[in-house]
Amino acid sequence: MHAMVLKRLGRPLEWTELPDRQPGPGQIRVKVAACGVCRTDLHVVDGELPRPQVPIIPGHEIVGRIDAIGSGVVGLALGQRVGIPWLGHTCGACAYCRMLRENLCDRPLFTGFTRDGGFATAAVADARFAFPLGEAGSDESLAPLLCAGLIGWRALGIAGAGKNLGLYGFGAAAHILAQVARWQGRSVFAFTRPGDAATQDFARSLGAVWAGGSDESPPQLLDAAIIFAPLGDLVPLALKTVRKGGRVVCAGIHMSDIPSFSYALLWEERQLLSVANLTRQDGLDFLGQVPRMGIVTTTTRYPLQQANEALADLRAGRFEGAAVLVP
Ligand SMILES: [Zn+2]
Ligand SMILES: [Zn+2]
Repeated sequence: MHAMVLKRLGRPLEWTELPDRQPGPGQIRVKVAACGVCRTDLHVVDGELPRPQVPIIPGHEIVGRIDAIGSGVVGLALGQRVGIPWLGHTCGACAYCRMLRENLCDRPLFTGFTRDGGFATAAVADARFAFPLGEAGSDESLAPLLCAGLIGWRALGIAGAGKNLGLYGFGAAAHILAQVARWQGRSVFAFTRPGDAATQDFARSLGAVWAGGSDESPPQLLDAAIIFAPLGDLVPLALKTVRKGGRVVCAGIHMSDIPSFSYALLWEERQLLSVANLTRQDGLDFLGQVPRMGIVTTTTRYPLQQANEALADLRAGRFEGAAVLVP
């Protein structure tokens, strides 16, 4: 197999030939057909997440077909198309796992961060954390749903049922979530980098009722806002846009420091929350409804060997929607 491997933090990934891997008990191996590029991959490469490990193969939005099955795997078949998400393994025994909050497991493994991921021609995964994807939709179009879509879905649930929803940072996650929110009958207000007219147009094309810079005020107070951009400066700005009792949800895994702000922004029962990882139930709930939602993902395709270019373009905001690597 071949992979784009992170050998040293902060350095480009390296195209590397590796021995073929065999799935162990409870594991599957998939031939990777597509793997989305997520902002979290940038945080992995930059060494911004706690306890980084190298060498590691990044990538946690994997779509592929099973080509080997380890012992004890039930319910999956050779040739079946599956998605492999960020949550790669949980212990099943800690207090969080037992209270059905496995997204907070004390001993988790994360695909593309603490176990090898999908910037590769093949990946081995814990079979219990692979989602059957069916045959509808192209591999490339489905890949961004595995994290951008799923984390967005979890964040949307935590944001509550309010109609007027703000999205800060209109990248891979928000471009999917805007469509989900619209399907649910909500109104989306999109906030981009100030002056980024192209992305504001993109947001309107996906149904946003208003789009503007993160330094602008929307035409009305919002019920909730979700922050996808990794900028702590956005937290007080988002708190200013939500009504009394409104929620601000931080959906990224890493964020720059949040500046101090007046208590008046939080007063009146506004809530500030974060979203961590996903549960398998989130995946089943979201992916089970995707066929009815009519989500159209906007993707930019890169050959696997151009993973570094994809990461650089993501960092610079050079495409709308999501980047997807194809071996
Ligand atoms: Zn656990
Ligand atoms: Zn991700």
